[in-house]
Amino acid sequence: MSLKAGIIGMPNVGKSTLFNAITKKNILAANYPFATIDPNLGTVVVPDKRLETLEKMYMPLRCIPTQYEFTDIAGLVKGASNGEGLGNKFLSHIREVDAVIHVVRCFKDKDVIHVEGSVDPIRDIEIINSRLERITKKAQTGNDKLLLKEVDILNRCKDFLVQGKPLRDLDLSDEEKEFIKAFNFITLKPMIYLANVNEVDLVNGSNEYIDKVKEYALNEGIKVIPMCAQIESELVELPDDEKKVFLNELGIEESGLDKLIKTTYDILGLSTFFTVGSDEVRAWTFKKGMKAPECAGIIHTDFQKGFIKAEVMSYEDLIKYGNELKVKEAGKARLEGKDYIMQDGDICLFRFNV
Ligand code: GDP
Repeated sequence: MSLKAGIIGMPNVGKSTLFNAITKKNILAANYPFATIDPNLGTVVVPDKRLETLEKMYMPLRCIPTQYEFTDIAGLVKGASNGEGLGNKFLSHIREVDAVIHVVRCFKDKDVIHVEGSVDPIRDIEIINSRLERITKKAQTGNDKLLLKEVDILNRCKDFLVQGKPLRDLDLSDEEKEFIKAFNFITLKPMIYLANVNEVDLVNGSNEYIDKVKEYALNEGIKVIPMCAQIESELVELPDDEKKVFLNELGIEESGLDKLIKTTYDILGLSTFFTVGSDEVRAWTFKKGMKAPECAGIIHTDFQKGFIKAEVMSYEDLIKYGNELKVKEAGKARLEGKDYIMQDGDICLFRFNV
C-alpha cells in the first residue's frame, strides 16, 4: 500500500531541514527492501513497539516494519508570486499526496531571513492556505467538460451516501476512480501543522508562536506538532541508545520526527496488522475499515483473489497468554471470513487457494 505525505510551507521555515532529517533516517533504513533512491522522496519507518516485542518472541530471520513516504513539495510560493502558471507542478504534486504537513516557522533567528519580514505563524498559515484554495478552484474550474463529469460522479456519490451505503461499495469504473482521485479536494486533505521551534522552546514545550498556532489549529480541528527540525536532523544520526540519552537530557520522551510519523499515520486513518513466523515478522499498513480479503491483497494479490479464511489473533491476547498455542487453548484464535473487518494489532495468517 503506497502512501505519501507532502511537506509544504513558506520559504525559510525549515522544510529542507526537516526533509533532510527524514532522508537521513531513510538512508539509515537503507537495508530495508523499500528504501527509495528518489531524492524528492524519503521513506520513513513507522515506529511500533509491538513489532519489537514480536521480533523477540519469534526470533525471525527478518523483521520488517511498515512504512510510508514523505515528499518535498516545492513551488507553491514561487509559482504563485509571479502569477504565472500558478503552481501547476505544485498542483500535480499535491494531488498525489494523501496528507499535507504544513511547516510553520515558530522560531526567531535574525540570521534566517523571513520573506514576509517578521515571524508571524498565523499570517503564514493563512497565506499558504489561501493559495491552496486558489489553486484548488483554478484546477476545478479550468475545464468545463471535466467539471460536468465531476458533478455527475459526485451526485452519484451523494445518492449512494444518502442511502446509507459506504462509498467504497459504489460501482465506479477504474477510470472514474482515477478521476475522483485526481479531483480530490486539496483543502480537505488531512493536514498537520508542524511548528518549527528553537531548542529551548522545544524543551519548554511552548512559546508565543506555538501557542498562537495551537489556538488557531484548534478551531480548524488540525493537530499541531512542535519540533525543532535542526535537532531532528542531528538526532537521526545517533544510534538508538544515544538518541534515548539525548532525549532524556532534553526531558522529551519521543523524537519529534517519530511523533510526526505516528500522527500522520493516524490522521490518514491507518492501522497495522502483523504476520509472524520464523522466517519473517512483519507489520503491514491498512486503512481502517478494510476487510480481511483486501488486507490479504496488500501482501499479495493472489491472497485476495483466492481468499478462503483468515486465522486471526489479537496482539493483546498473544501477550496476555504468552504464545500462540495458549491463545488457541483459551479459544481466542479465530477463523474469520471475507466480511471480517480487520482490527489494529491483528496477527494474521491468510488461507487462500489460486
Ligand atoms: P525551507 O526554505 O523551508 O526549506 O527552510 P530551510 O530548511 O532551508 O531552513 C532555513 C534556515 O533556517 C536554514 O538556515 C536552517 O538552518 C534554519 N533553521 C531551520 N530550522 C531551524 C530551527 O529550528 N531553529 C533555527 N534557529 N534555525 C532553523
